[in-house]
Amino acid sequence: MPNSIFVTKERCTGCTACVKACPVSCITMVDRDPNEGVKWRKLAVIDEVKCVFCNACVEVCDNLGAKSAHKDLFNAITMTKETATSTGPAIDTSLYKGVWVYAEVRHGKLVPTIYELLSLAQKLAGTLGEDISAVLIGKDVARHAQDIIDHGADKVYVLDHPCFENFVDELYTQAFADLILKEKPNKLLLPASTLGRSFASRLAISAKTGITADATELTIDPKTRLLHATRPSFGGNLMATILCEKQRPEMATVRPMSFPRSEKKPGRQGKTIPVPVDPSKFKQRTRFVKYEPEQGEEQDISAADVIVAGGRGVGGAAGFKPIEALAKILGGAVGASRAAVDAGWITYRHQVGLTGRTVRPKLYIAAGISGQIQHLAGMNSSDVIVCVNKDPEAPLMKLATLSIEADLFEFIPALVKELEKRKGH
Ligand SMILES: Cc1cc2nc3c(=O)[nH]c(=O)nc-3n(C[C@H](O)[C@H](O)[C@H](O)COP(=O)(O)OP(=O)(O)OC[C@H]3O[C@@H](n4cnc5c(N)ncnc54)[C@H](O)[C@@H]3O)c2cc1C
Repeated sequence: MPNSIFVTKERCTGCTACVKACPVSCITMVDRDPNEGVKWRKLAVIDEVKCVFCNACVEVCDNLGAKSAHKDLFNAITMTKETATSTGPAIDTSLYKGVWVYAEVRHGKLVPTIYELLSLAQKLAGTLGEDISAVLIGKDVARHAQDIIDHGADKVYVLDHPCFENFVDELYTQAFADLILKEKPNKLLLPASTLGRSFASRLAISAKTGITADATELTIDPKTRLLHATRPSFGGNLMATILCEKQRPEMATVRPMSFPRSEKKPGRQGKTIPVPVDPSKFKQRTRFVKYEPEQGEEQDISAADVIVAGGRGVGGAAGFKPIEALAKILGGAVGASRAAVDAGWITYRHQVGLTGRTVRPKLYIAAGISGQIQHLAGMNSSDVIVCVNKDPEAPLMKLATLSIEADLFEFIPALVKELEKRKGH
């Protein structure tokens, strides 16, 4: 039965408690027809299309009902939730073993996010007492297997074939899904990169399982052995922990830079398992045409060792000039707070934070950024944090390794000048 929700007209007093409780603003109050003969003037109406069936409105209305002396009022909202799994019949979960990670290869290079996935996999596999396996797909990718083993994998499945030279969702999904069905992994983690996001959801559908996208925290419940995957929901206003109880593997994409990298132990023992690939089996409706790298010299914040970020304190698009000058002389990238992005002073790809990118540079310089929790969520694992702010009470001034109480328009140009002098410009 599909999800459904409705309001019993006779019990609704139009008190608006449900409107306030709804996180997705799908409840409105409408005027009642005076001919109804009900003394309450307003009636709650729920937009079922927008509703996420979170139960918040039901709870608040039922709580009022419990407190009210009028037993015929409140308890006005009835919700029915879908009961059957939409992913397929229940399976024997005990047959599924091992923590798997996907090792992304981009233009022939291993993407370092694999080391973060491996450190996370070590933690999860430690609680489960299971092995860690990595999956490599591409052309001439077998050469990366030992590096992955050195960083903590016990096995590496290698799908090495010319048909995988360029990433095509359909091919990668069919090959990976076949391997999942044959080997039955228990948990599977992929990077929440552009490629990972695009292909993980298809993979989950093909493997008839569920997936948590963009997880920022993952743990195993030692009792149930289930993966608890936590991710920001409702635009970051609350953190949701998601479980996939009945299907396997339990899958998640993991935000790059959210976890430390695993340690390298050169010469570590592990198994490389070549997986035969027969491209004639694959159904393909799309084909790779060409790769065009993004134009411009701007460094990507997620890979930068140094980030100089500006916030509302820069005052406008032109205020980013000193920030860019400092980033340039330090060989770093330019970051921004959401306030600066929302104001249209800089593009979204520079945004650091909960709804932007998570970064972990060696040096993060924040100028004119107060340090609200949503910004900190994206950068507080940086090695050294320098905060330049006029207000000594700004939250980031308290957290920073080095806090500089100054006007950024005086301090940053002076610093650039000094660095230029030292570099002999
Ligand atoms: C669901 C949700 C998600 C969000 N996601 C993000 C996110 O991903 N990233 C993010 O950044 N925010 C995010 N936010 C917004 C966040 O709550 C803050 O509003 C935002 O980070 C504030 O940006 P700011 O620090 O630049 O601005 P402000 O808080 O206004 O701070 C400006 C700072 O500049 C200082 N200043 C002013 N002039 C100067 C000067 N001349 N020299 C030095 N200092 C100066 C001021 O003292 C002040 O501390 C999110 C909010 C919500 C509700």
